[in-house]
Amino acid sequence: MTSEIIDSKDLKSDPVFGQLSFDGHEQIVFCNDEDTGLKAIIGIHNTTLGPALGGTRMWQYKTEWEALNDVLRLSRGMTYKSAITGLNLGGGKAVIIGDAKAQKNDALMRKFGEFVNSLGGKYITAEDVGMETRDMDIIREVTTSVTGISESKGGSGNPSPVTAYGVYMGMKAAAKYKFGSDKLEGKKILVQGVGHVGETLVKHITDEGAQVILNDINEARLEELSKKYSANVVLGNDIYGLDLDIYAPCALGATVNDTSIAQLQAKVIAGAANNQLANEVKHGKMLQEKGIAYAPDFLINAGGIINVYAEVAGYNKEESLKRTENIYNTTLEIFDLAEKENITTHRAAFNIAQARIDARKKEQNS
Ligand code: NAD
Repeated sequence: MTSEIIDSKDLKSDPVFGQLSFDGHEQIVFCNDEDTGLKAIIGIHNTTLGPALGGTRMWQYKTEWEALNDVLRLSRGMTYKSAITGLNLGGGKAVIIGDAKAQKNDALMRKFGEFVNSLGGKYITAEDVGMETRDMDIIREVTTSVTGISESKGGSGNPSPVTAYGVYMGMKAAAKYKFGSDKLEGKKILVQGVGHVGETLVKHITDEGAQVILNDINEARLEELSKKYSANVVLGNDIYGLDLDIYAPCALGATVNDTSIAQLQAKVIAGAANNQLANEVKHGKMLQEKGIAYAPDFLINAGGIINVYAEVAGYNKEESLKRTENIYNTTLEIFDLAEKENITTHRAAFNIAQARIDARKKEQNS
């Protein structure tokens, strides 16, 4: 390896703290290992309520800026998700830059685990896109700061089915608010992204008799699941103008934006993806003005964190499901509060979460 002197005129100003997505984050850790090729970023947004727990995403980011921006947005989202869910956890998240199918191996996972371990419990990892329960088991070999490990190894297993159950609860609550009934029978529902969470959600809503339309970039998966659930399929990105009752984003974030809102026919948005609103303030407001009931993502996709928190707090699956079911009630409360205060649902949920963090901080400082 050769070291070169870097000319300060080549450095862009404020590359981290000046990022648009930087929001008072406590710590950002850049992890690099030449032997395994690991390039990862751990974002710790806030630890007021407890250790920063959040999954690791492995994704082929086009640029490092994109990866940094993602980890900043995702870790911040975890702070509010755990706060509104009433968990004693802070917000953190990690991203590994690379193709999970081609570049993930046990040595890379172990090395990443060592970086997590070096934070001494301040950050606890779990699964996210591109990760499997098996990866958490490998990380567990080098650190206790990991959740979502196999049930056979004493963990809570794959959190995705519990996440899907919570999204289903949030979707039913949103339907009750918007359509006057939480029955999804006959409702036209587009599920965008039929991966771990999306598929289980499809199962819940088809069992209830919804008319489900599937969308994914993985055509083989679409073919398999359309047969399995007798569901229709739509290919490509031209999906928002479809005649729909409910849009369920279950792929990646920022799909609720200027373009999609302008076309959207759905009356409800309720899905699993994190950071669905490209711009929380602007797009939250646009949805409110268009009369689209938006179930805040960080509220209704909390089933997974509830499930992995069981490993930290020591409760069982039954308790995880009971707590997840309560997402139905919280979602209804948020819709009512937003209407009463004439604010967006995102803002209503955010305000409650922030108030909990502020109260704890006050206690800690007194
Ligand atoms: P996954 O990787 O299993 O599934 C994602 C699916 O989306 C894949 O099938 C992929 O092909 C598809 N996809 C990717 N880009 C797409 C695009 N542009 N259009 C259509 N489909 C596309 O991930 P997952 O675990 O099911 O998580 C889905 C979303 O829910 C993610 O945003 C994740 O952060 C969020 N989430 C997951 C959990 C969990 O417990 N797994 C918890 C909370 C939030």
